[in-house]
Amino acid sequence: MKILNPATQAVVAEVAEDGATSIRNKYQRAREAQPLWAAVPLEKRLDAIRVFRGRITAMHETLAKTLTLEVGKPIRQSRNELQGLLGRIDFFLSESARALREEKVFADRRGKIEERITHEPLGVIANISAWNYPYFVGGNVFIPALIAGNAVLYKPSEYATLTGLHIAAMLYESGIPTDVFVPVIGAAKAGAALLRQPVDGVFFTGSYATGEKVGAAAGKRMAKVQLELGGKDPVYVCDDVDVKTAAAGLADGAFYNTGQSCCSVERIYVHEKIHDAFVKAFVAEVRGFKRGDPLDESTYIGALTRRPQLDVLKKQVADARRKGAKVLTGGDIVKSKGNWFEPTVLVDVDHRMSVMKDESFGPIIGIQKVADDAEAVAFINDTEYGLTAGVYTPDPKRARKILSQVRSGSVYWNCCDRVSPRLPWSGVGHSGIGVTLSTYGIQTFTRPKAWHLRRA
Ligand code: NAD
Repeated sequence: MKILNPATQAVVAEVAEDGATSIRNKYQRAREAQPLWAAVPLEKRLDAIRVFRGRITAMHETLAKTLTLEVGKPIRQSRNELQGLLGRIDFFLSESARALREEKVFADRRGKIEERITHEPLGVIANISAWNYPYFVGGNVFIPALIAGNAVLYKPSEYATLTGLHIAAMLYESGIPTDVFVPVIGAAKAGAALLRQPVDGVFFTGSYATGEKVGAAAGKRMAKVQLELGGKDPVYVCDDVDVKTAAAGLADGAFYNTGQSCCSVERIYVHEKIHDAFVKAFVAEVRGFKRGDPLDESTYIGALTRRPQLDVLKKQVADARRKGAKVLTGGDIVKSKGNWFEPTVLVDVDHRMSVMKDESFGPIIGIQKVADDAEAVAFINDTEYGLTAGVYTPDPKRARKILSQVRSGSVYWNCCDRVSPRLPWSGVGHSGIGVTLSTYGIQTFTRPKAWHLRRA
């Protein structure tokens, strides 16, 4: 399998792809190794993850460069991702013992009857991952899964394979056995072959279209399934905001990681009273973003990781234009060897247009005028997705009222495009099922076992 640099289309590396036989062998090795790993005391498993944290710090610059080369992410944003991973590891290190400890939930007065819950590892899990934040979306799964005593068959996205191999090497250097964390290399075919193994859990991050297939395959096998899928994340800007601050925050939320975050701002609704002033400030921000070589320290907009996405964006712009939208900046593919799209701002958009309904996953945003809060809430909820949604207003009561009517896994007040290890990460509707992060995202890699105990 060839690994291409999205900024230039040059071949960065070639790697051997897994086939059906090697995947079956990897599954069998993991199945045999898992009970031995689960028998290792929790403190020892945590020690290995502590060493892994140290390896990431030691390898920081090499890892950041590899990530930038294979996904086109600006180098500073690659470093940020690695830095953010350390915070997540710290959370898992400090919270896992509490989340996984045995609980006594009942004892009768005479001490004859007791009820307890233990958190047993699921067994062997498949972790099929995305490329846009491979350290985050992968780490949210394989780190707590390993801590909880599971073996992990990890399929990095075919667009983030080298990063996946770095992760495996660092885990082995940290004391995780080679049969307990096993990378599976390849694209859709390898993913489908992995799902034919009798794994105990399937943890998938990716698009709704693939998630549907993965969910069906896992359901057939009665494996536990979690799907972290896409979004069409909206933000509403009220009439009482500081326009410049809101515009700067939202331009970053929409264009960071070149718009390729599951929680990138994808739709903005602005109160009609401040619409024009907001749009002016927003476009000025976007025009200030530097697009260029992802390895350059000053680059903010990088290359798009997947080449086919260029066409998706081009079609969204054409569809919006045809239906009456105006392009204020950008709007086209950049003619070059790599996968480049101009940072694009559209106004006069509405919900007949694909750009306001379908995930864009790129440097493009639609800004729509609304008359009041009720109309904004109606538009926010007019979607099949439900990952995140936000509101900008200095008024906490107004924000609370709006956000409590919103149907999504996370809600934001005066912030956006934000993930915290302390809070559950989940989606509604086509954004998926299940939870990562927070203590829910540790226990999700276990099966609660009920103990009914009566003294003889
Ligand atoms: P994708 O669906 O194309 O691929 C995801 C993974 O599935 C890859 O590893 C791929 O090789 C594999 N795959 C593809 N076909 C398969 C099949 N038939 N069976 C098994 N595996 C298969 O998604 P992507 O392009 O890698 O990621 C982008 C998508 O991920 C976006 O929609 C984004 O919103 C979403 N995402 C969601 C979250 C979240 O937390 N909710 C986080 C990151 C990304």
